[in-house]
Parts: sequence; structure tokens; C-alpha cells
Amino acid sequence: MLTFTTKTALRAWRTSLGGSLGLVPTMGALHAGHLSLLAAARRQNTRVAVSLFVNPLQFGPHEDFARYPRDLAADRRLLESSGCDALFAPSVDEMIPPGCATTVDVGPLALPLEGQRRPGHFRGVATIVTKLLAIARPDRAYFGEKDAQQLAVIQRLVSDLDLPVQVCPCPVVRESDGLAMSSRNAYLTADERAAAPVLWRAMEEASRVWAGGERRGDRLEHAMRAVLDAQPLARTDYAVAVDPTTLEPIDRAHGPVRLLLAVFLGGTRLIDTRLLG
Ligand code: AMP
Repeated sequence: MLTFTTKTALRAWRTSLGGSLGLVPTMGALHAGHLSLLAAARRQNTRVAVSLFVNPLQFGPHEDFARYPRDLAADRRLLESSGCDALFAPSVDEMIPPGCATTVDVGPLALPLEGQRRPGHFRGVATIVTKLLAIARPDRAYFGEKDAQQLAVIQRLVSDLDLPVQVCPCPVVRESDGLAMSSRNAYLTADERAAAPVLWRAMEEASRVWAGGERRGDRLEHAMRAVLDAQPLARTDYAVAVDPTTLEPIDRAHGPVRLLLAVFLGGTRLIDTRLLG
């Protein structure tokens, strides 16, 4: 596996390549969720690159940028053994040199839910993803459905800016008890970890109600809330049923519905999602 820390070196490698390139953007602390994106990229491309950049632009001033888990040596070993061709691990100054002033704003999709709780978050994500796509020039880029609003934002930006890349969504990878894999799961205490599958159970309950024919958004949300409220360690930030494309609340569903949850367990905020229908 080649490792690049500069944009110039990655660009030179890209220019030298024949065939297609798949890119998997990550913030590191890699787990099986990330590796599933890498595996999908390997199946569909001649070469695969993973970027590892803890993007300061997407963290709010009181968020966990400083303590976000970082273990480059472990990540390198995982990527080597998973068939990654190139790792791009730039410094903050390399990605965002002093004077860098342009940002990418995707409009209404970035405003509700995560965007409301984390002002500027999606501007930070969209700006860095746009730069990664411009530097690596992949044919395909892989993103997890776990971060469903992020995925919608990136699909919007690639479409609106006519970027020459195919966005490839990948399903959520879970622990055996249903908890979605996340680098932030490392923050959970033993008690919080034991309580964390409550997100999964809330979505199971909404799915059960949906399978019984319920199509009203508020009823689906109520089904999730009932499960979440019964777990004393969980504090629900939001648990909503939305239109899968616009992420707007639905009154009554006439097609598929996306469940989106953000739940605090202690100081750790977990998100999860499921598509109904
Ligand atoms: P992150 O390092 O958390 O920024 O995630 C990098 C990419 O991996 C994003 O596209 C995430 O949506 C995706 N990802 C993270 N966790 C999972 C998971 N459990 N299953 C599938 N994809 C995931």
C-alpha cells in the first residue's frame, strides 16, 4: 500500500493510473463499517484509495475534534490487510492551508436534523469532500448509509456541481446486537454500550408498526419514542420519519420512509437510520 501525505503526490499517482479508481473518504479509527466500503470499492474498481482526515471544519467548537480517536498505525495495518492500494493521510495544513476561504454550501438539505444541531457541520463535510474528489479524481466514491443526511448532502453536491464521480451508497454494518458500528462507540462506558442497541430496537418497533400497515409519520415516530423513552440511559435528540430524498417530515407515506435517530448515551451522541419500504 502506498501512503501519500501531500496532494501533489496523490495527484501524480492518480495521473499515472490506468483503469478506474474508487475512493473511500474516512476520518480513521477504522472498523468493519469502513472496511465494507473498501470491499465494495475493490469489487468495482481497478484501484482503491482511502483518505484519512479528521476534518476540523466539520466539528463544532464544543465537539470532540481534539479527542476523536486516532490510531494511524492500526488503520494502516487494517488497510494493508484489506487490499487498499493507496492511503491519503494529509495534515490539516495540507488540506486547509492558511488563506483557504472557499466553502461549499448545499442549501436546504444541510439545514435540519444534524445541520440544526451542528451548525456548519455539512459545510465542513461538503467542502472537504469536494476537495478530496478534486484531488483524487475517483471514478466512484463510497459513503455509508449510516450517515444518511451526509450521504444525501453529498449526492446533492455531486449532482448540483456536475462533479464527474459516481456516488456509491453502502449499507449500515452492525454489531451482532444491532448497534451500528461507529468510531464513537469507543467512548461508551460498559453500561452505555449495553444500552446502545436501543436505537436498533426503536427502529425494529417502527418497522413492526410499518409492517402492520401504519403510514403516518407521527405514529412511526411515536413507536420509536416509546422504546427510547423506556431506556433510562438514553436521551433522544431526534427520532423522525422523513422523506428519503428531501429529508422533510412526512404526514402520511405514499412510498418509502427513512427513519433517522440521534440519541445521547451519556456524553456520546449516536446516530442510526433505516429505510422502510
Ligand atoms: P467516518 O470515518 O465516521 O467519517 O466514516 C467514513 C465513512 O464510513 C462514511 O461514509 C460513513 O458513513 C461510513 N461508515 C461509518 N460507519 C459505518 C457503518 N457502521 N456502516 C457503513 N458505513 C459506515
